[in-house]
Amino acid sequence: MSILGVQIEEKIRDQHNNHNFALKITPMSKTMLAALFYEHGDASKIRVENVAIPKIDRDEVLIRVRYCALNRLDLFVRNGAPTLKIPLPHISGSDIVGTIEDVGENVANYEKGDLVAVNAVWFCNKCERCLEGEHSLCDEFKMIGEHLWGGFAQYTKVPARNLIKVPKNVDPQAVAALGLTTLTAWRMLKTKAKLSPGDVVVIPGAGGGLSTAAIQISKLLGAKVIALTSTERKMEVVKKLGADIVLNYKEEPNWGKKILELTNGRGADIVFESVGHATWQQSLRCLRKGGRLVTAGATTGFEGKTNIGAVFWLQLEILGSTMANMAEFKEAMELIFTGKLKPHIDKVFPLEQLADAQRYLEAGDHVGKILIEIP
Ligand SMILES: [Zn+2]
Repeated sequence: MSILGVQIEEKIRDQHNNHNFALKITPMSKTMLAALFYEHGDASKIRVENVAIPKIDRDEVLIRVRYCALNRLDLFVRNGAPTLKIPLPHISGSDIVGTIEDVGENVANYEKGDLVAVNAVWFCNKCERCLEGEHSLCDEFKMIGEHLWGGFAQYTKVPARNLIKVPKNVDPQAVAALGLTTLTAWRMLKTKAKLSPGDVVVIPGAGGGLSTAAIQISKLLGAKVIALTSTERKMEVVKKLGADIVLNYKEEPNWGKKILELTNGRGADIVFESVGHATWQQSLRCLRKGGRLVTAGATTGFEGKTNIGAVFWLQLEILGSTMANMAEFKEAMELIFTGKLKPHIDKVFPLEQLADAQRYLEAGDHVGKILIEIP
């Protein structure tokens, strides 16, 4: 871009010197700065380079990215997995907020300059589940940032049907920080686990983006929250976010039993799972009769021991959830736009330091979200 940038500047200077203002020059260069990787592996594989700006289709928009939040998904995509087959080089980043730069010929509701947030679920809008409004169950489900190029770049393209306009008085940092985790937690708690006021919700591994969203949404919907975390710093933040009881799971390895005691033998109505292997058994153990475990992640591993007897005898429900449909996305965004949910931003890194930001996320000492600011 620098080479093109210089060329343009020189041309403009020439123009002024020659007083030839009639000559039209587009100030936008054809390339953009992007953080990408050519092979899977650790953070050292990330390069910051100039690449061509994506070309939009009739139903798509080009977004000038302002902020893109980090998610564990980015690490999974960068590390690579046998099941993940994506063309390389790849640009990750699923939590995108930016302004519209260009719109495809079929796009009617958006124009250049609109501030927008993106639902990272790519859906076909034609299959049976899409027509039912269940976009995250689409036959051709893809994730923007995982299967398609995402937001760790100056520009990205997405279908216009994935957007919501962000009101002018709303902080774009807050929207990027809360976007993906809020819509995921909203579907998990509201649609899947059917949270009602007074429910006891247990949140293991509290401290990350998803679980901090879950604490706030649970409190907003009138639940009592028991959060489990590991460090003093995380315990303090989790308490501030509204958790009623905070347990240190390192001091309480049998926390499932402890929760039964704390609820006078009744147990929890809902467990909000995203940890997986390390917490699965205790998460099932602390449920009440007819309780619901809802899961949308497994950061410590995909296999967990399940006492099948307990599942049918106690009539437990194990519910899977991934991202959200457009209706849930819009409901979740409304919570952010109206200030009902407050972001907890740990740190903001510039695009050039994406590798450092990902190392920071991997270390696991953060509380809340890590953002990338695009120059
Ligand atoms: Zn579909």
